[in-house]
Amino acid sequence: MSKQIQAIRGMNDCLPTETALWQYVESTVRQVVASYGYQEIRTPIVESTDLFKRSIGEVTDIVEKEMYTFADRNSDSLTLRPEGTASVVRAGNEHGLLYNQQQRLWYMGQMFRHERPQKGRYRQFHQFGVEVFGLEGPDIDAEVILLSARLWKMFGITEHVTLEINSLGSAAARVAYKEQLVAFLKTKESALDEDSLRRLESNPLRVLDSKNPQVQAAIAGAPKLIDCLDEESAKHFQGLCERLDDLGIQYRVNPSLVRGLDYYNRTVFEWVTESLGAQGTVCAGGRYDGLVQQLGGKGTQGVGFAMGLERLVLMLQTLELDKNVESPVDVYITAMDESVELYARQISEMLRDGAPQLRIMNHCGGGNVKKQMKRADNSGARIALIIGQNEAEHQQVAVKYLRDQQAQQTVAKSELGEFITNIFAK
Ligand code: ATP
Ligand code: MG
Repeated sequence: MSKQIQAIRGMNDCLPTETALWQYVESTVRQVVASYGYQEIRTPIVESTDLFKRSIGEVTDIVEKEMYTFADRNSDSLTLRPEGTASVVRAGNEHGLLYNQQQRLWYMGQMFRHERPQKGRYRQFHQFGVEVFGLEGPDIDAEVILLSARLWKMFGITEHVTLEINSLGSAAARVAYKEQLVAFLKTKESALDEDSLRRLESNPLRVLDSKNPQVQAAIAGAPKLIDCLDEESAKHFQGLCERLDDLGIQYRVNPSLVRGLDYYNRTVFEWVTESLGAQGTVCAGGRYDGLVQQLGGKGTQGVGFAMGLERLVLMLQTLELDKNVESPVDVYITAMDESVELYARQISEMLRDGAPQLRIMNHCGGGNVKKQMKRADNSGARIALIIGQNEAEHQQVAVKYLRDQQAQQTVAKSELGEFITNIFAK
């Protein structure tokens, strides 16, 4: 036997037993963004490497060590997108969607990062994200947070996620803060790891973002950016906090939340959970007022977030909230011998004509009653239509309830459409 080829490490198949849950997640996301009037944008999976270097920042985990970068056949350097914001801004600039306009956009799709695969961390993963352009005030920051909170509500996980927020202030405030931070970090040099020492020189704020517990302990007493905010940013942050209070959205101000990407300013936030172990951040975002300009466009404010869908799916599974996902079949149609196969097909096509939303599966492959009923049950269908010679002869079907305590009924073909529609209307 020849050797089987395996999937690439960290890149998962989504098997039929899981796709129903994924579809439920995706359709809920679509429903929620539509209910806020957001529009979808789709961008390519591959972009110029420079796009990510210029937006995410050279001294970040993503650009330093996680990107899938390769030379195209004509030796251009291309990269599989590690996140969505840079591409959305690139597309917005390229097609003139941003300057002097307001846009409320969303996207969903695969992202790629060469990380060490573990639970909740993969090399190909999926993000859903929103990006809003042309709005400056904290009202829109509150809206995108509210939108994410509505998703938790829809999925029934509000109790299992916590919102952390912080403000990174203006670029000028960060410059002043950096000096204080560097002075502090120099006193802790012996406790810093190699990455942090390098960042101390190149991008000191990133040290706050370190995942190393030893580094985290050493920097616990570091000066806080939130204490050095410029007046405008402080007012903006206060405006956001007030709105969240008024809306009843609970949050914790986390002064060391700086986010792993360079383009953020003012508001940053994360939704974290304790139900996933180490990979606790399910959703992360913030404001990026300088990014559009940094990527060559005319100044336009931006704010958004990205949600890791694998982590969301894992949460639903861990909390056993995946059980109420619908089965893929409503009606299972049997055909007790070959002579009634055509009649059974005609019945199912007639039902599909009249009720296109019904999921109808026809039995194929023959077999006795017992076998066919077992398949009907395994399909997850709520009802089975039993069709034998007697039913075909009298232009009827027998309706058997597979989940409800109700006696089998015989229904005329001419009345079947309405009969079935009524069952599923309940
Ligand atoms: P982390 O701190 O977990 O590495 P991050 O700060 O790198 O996350 P972002 O770039 O902010 O993550 O991406 C937003 C969300 O996308 C994360 O909160 C997470 O839910 C998800 N995510 C990021 N990287 C991965 C990955 N490798 N596999 C699965 N989900 C991921
Ligand atoms: Mg990361």
